[in-house]
Amino acid sequence: MKVLVINAGSSSLKYQLIDMTNESVLAKGLCDRIGIENSFIKQSRGEEDAVVISKVLKNHKDAIEAVISALTDDKIGVIKSMSEISAVGHRIVHGGEKFNSSAVIDENVMEAVRECIDIAPLHNPPNIIGIEACQQIMPNVPMVGVFDTTFHSTMPEQAYLYAIPYELYQKYGIRKYGFHGTSHKYVSERTAELLGKPLSDLKIITCHLGNGSSICAVNKGKSIDTSMGFTPLQGLAMGTRSGTIDPEVVTFLMEKEDLTVKGVSTLLNKKSGVLGVSGVSSDFRDLHAAADEGNKRAQLALDIFAYGVKKFIGEYIAVMNGVDAIVFTAGIGENNSIIRKMVLNNMDFFGIKIDEDKNKIRGQEIDISTPDATVRTLVIPTNEELAIARETMRLLK
Ligand code: AMP
Repeated sequence: MKVLVINAGSSSLKYQLIDMTNESVLAKGLCDRIGIENSFIKQSRGEEDAVVISKVLKNHKDAIEAVISALTDDKIGVIKSMSEISAVGHRIVHGGEKFNSSAVIDENVMEAVRECIDIAPLHNPPNIIGIEACQQIMPNVPMVGVFDTTFHSTMPEQAYLYAIPYELYQKYGIRKYGFHGTSHKYVSERTAELLGKPLSDLKIITCHLGNGSSICAVNKGKSIDTSMGFTPLQGLAMGTRSGTIDPEVVTFLMEKEDLTVKGVSTLLNKKSGVLGVSGVSSDFRDLHAAADEGNKRAQLALDIFAYGVKKFIGEYIAVMNGVDAIVFTAGIGENNSIIRKMVLNNMDFFGIKIDEDKNKIRGQEIDISTPDATVRTLVIPTNEELAIARETMRLLK
């Protein structure tokens, strides 16, 4: 059974075709600059280099057509015809309070996803367009929606409610939802496998650190708190997002800088975070390079980020009354040994100690703690696409 996994953004669409008999990735690719000039599709098979093909992609339907034609292409393809695709798994960012599990997509599900647009105006519309494009091109193929939010649907009220008038929660659904749920779930399950213990016996803190970053307290396999909130802006300082700030800064800035609602939202989502502090880049590799050359603001941005991660780990140790494993994943979590070291330095009070040599190993599953550490610190590359494909299989069985 071959499952196509689709992650549709506003101007890009990532995909993977996974053979679920052995969970191998047959091909993966990206349609980029959809609706903009110079659009293209890029696809790679297995370990082969990616092939880039310029293609006019006016909309997501064009993109899905391009994906099918690349997958079935004589030269760069991996299947003979579209009929080999048994199911499609779609990443959907926001399921609000309507979904506490993944769902087989039908008109009721689509309606519920559309109703979530109000609380996810940036994220759900491109996901919906991606699903509709697939439905047009593959009308008879079953599809499953896997939400970033559902893993966090187990959070208790005290963790997800904001201390604003309760009626506003009832009226608008303003509460913490949390994101990156597919990744937090995947790495926490993998942690249990690697430690050879049942998930139900473990207290785990998962740190998904990438361009967007969030941390999750996973107790007995369930998310009980996470750093992102009503939107992915809350929590850690990120590539371009401010993370948590005093909400009065928003009103102050709107007044002083004469900013509109859109203006202040752009400032906090696109111009802040480590980019805003450093003035250099949102990419951590650039920040390290600049800091090494003596750029103090680049170093400050790195310090703010690592300090934020450390504080969340402390918070979640308190919330769970301990921790068995701390897990690092995503671009920074998997590859950036300096940040891991900055975060975990001076935490031996908690029994957290890392082996400096093991910590230097990049991008693979590894336990980087010292033998005498009482908390295991693991690096586990995330695999959201495989998790979505597994969910798709589970639901369609
Ligand atoms: P993601 O959003 O998960 O793709 O992560 C992107 C972030 O990971 C960027 O800030 C990159 O700088 C960072 N990253 C990726 N590879 C490395 C690396 N080898 N060293 C440091 N940071 C890295």
